[in-house]
Amino acid sequence: MLDTILVWFRRDLRLHDNETLWQAAQDAKQILPVYCFDPREFGASRLLELPRTGYFRSKFLLESLEDLQRSLSSLGSNLYIVCGKPEEQIPEILKQFPGQTAVYALEEFATEEIGVQKALANQLAKCGSQLKLFETTGLFKTKDLPFAVDRLPDVFTVFRQKLEKTLKVRPEFLSHNLKLPTAKLAEGSLPTIKSLASEAPITNLKPCLQFVGGETQALKRLNEYFWSKDLLRKYKQTRNGLIGPNYSSKFSAWLALGALSPVHIYHQVKRYEKERLANESTYWLIFELFWREYFRFSALKHGSRLFYKNGFIKNTKVFKQDKNLFKSWQSGQTGTDFVDANMSELALTGFMSNRGRQNVASYLCKTLGLDWRWGAEYFEMQLIDHDVYNNWGNWSYQAGVGHDPRDRTFNIERQAQTYDANGEYTNYWLERPTPQLKLF
Ligand SMILES: Cc1cc2nc3c(=O)[nH]c(=O)nc-3n(C[C@H](O)[C@H](O)[C@H](O)COP(=O)(O)OP(=O)(O)OC[C@H]3O[C@@H](n4cnc5c(N)ncnc54)[C@H](O)[C@@H]3O)c2cc1C
Repeated sequence: MLDTILVWFRRDLRLHDNETLWQAAQDAKQILPVYCFDPREFGASRLLELPRTGYFRSKFLLESLEDLQRSLSSLGSNLYIVCGKPEEQIPEILKQFPGQTAVYALEEFATEEIGVQKALANQLAKCGSQLKLFETTGLFKTKDLPFAVDRLPDVFTVFRQKLEKTLKVRPEFLSHNLKLPTAKLAEGSLPTIKSLASEAPITNLKPCLQFVGGETQALKRLNEYFWSKDLLRKYKQTRNGLIGPNYSSKFSAWLALGALSPVHIYHQVKRYEKERLANESTYWLIFELFWREYFRFSALKHGSRLFYKNGFIKNTKVFKQDKNLFKSWQSGQTGTDFVDANMSELALTGFMSNRGRQNVASYLCKTLGLDWRWGAEYFEMQLIDHDVYNNWGNWSYQAGVGHDPRDRTFNIERQAQTYDANGEYTNYWLERPTPQLKLF
């Protein structure tokens, strides 16, 4: 048994089904839960120099941390907040604790995050400690895959079918109610929203859902969507909607920060299938979660190529870098109403439906022929549910440099007619001009 394990919370801001926390509680006399605000995550993006984390996600993150702090306190523990690079801050903290120590944390697969993990492991080794990583963001772990990750199929359907045939989702870790003897440390305070991001845009238009960060709200939303409002029953029919809280689950924002476990969602769907009904909607929600698995493993396989203009393909595609055209897209002034309405919703609320995202992404990189990575960077800043694997994976897919073997272009007019036939959505979001960012 180790003396102290520092549990480094990253995008796993929850107590339920948290293997890292559960294992730390088994392996140490005392734990030390820490969250680290890494300035690089709030710095400028690579191409457009946009803030990487904008207002909506910063606010959601602060709410999530407050909630985790409250939950840990109710178990007699705490969450210590530090600001700085994890590879510098964490070894400094550990120096205050004599005896055998380790750091337990979620394992990330994207290039930068892997870099941070490696740097931290090196620093810890120098002071006789070690980093142990746990794959807790998905339904499956790399070691469970029926193929080596560098053999990940290029086509999603092949991946999904292989997994559906061979893999079982693991049971949940019972980590929500643990006894957590906790080491004492001077408590840091959460940064203010002002110090993280610029002001929220002013609007009286209603977001599709009032997103509030944290595990408590995540579990409440799941309970509402599955059980009290019974919306899961019709998910397959409603999921391409555009208006209001209920056409889709809206789990993505909580999933992105790990406030909701996908394994918990999976087992709740299975319980729903036993207690209420199993139909194509219950199947389809899990189907969508498989996309999330796919993009995460794809990031591990392809490494930094996920962020290259030509992605994973061998041919060279031409994408323009025209700043005025890009501005017209970002600020919802392309003149194509369905695109403009969606861009307005995103700018004013931090959210856009999946249908909207597909259309505006296709419009940017196929119709306007612009560099898809500019779009991905804007989404990274603006989306409340930004997730590096899902955002960059979906963008490269839409741009035809990722996983889409068909490389389709959306017919926006036809899409608008199909999904917004009476113009209700478009009229609502075009009522107000979209705030224009100072971009270049
Ligand atoms: C250009 C583009 C960028 C995107 N960026 C992100 C992002 O940064 N973060 C993010 O979570 N999703 C992203 N998506 C995927 C998808 O649009 C959102 O997951 C979905 O709209 C979230 O709403 P929901 O939770 O109500 O989804 P639901 O329809 O209720 O689906 C349930 C869950 O399944 C997963 N899922 C559904 N569709 C996809 C998909 N295409 N790819 C991966 N996972 C999926 C999500 O975790 C989602 O929460 C992007 C899609 C596109 C086309």
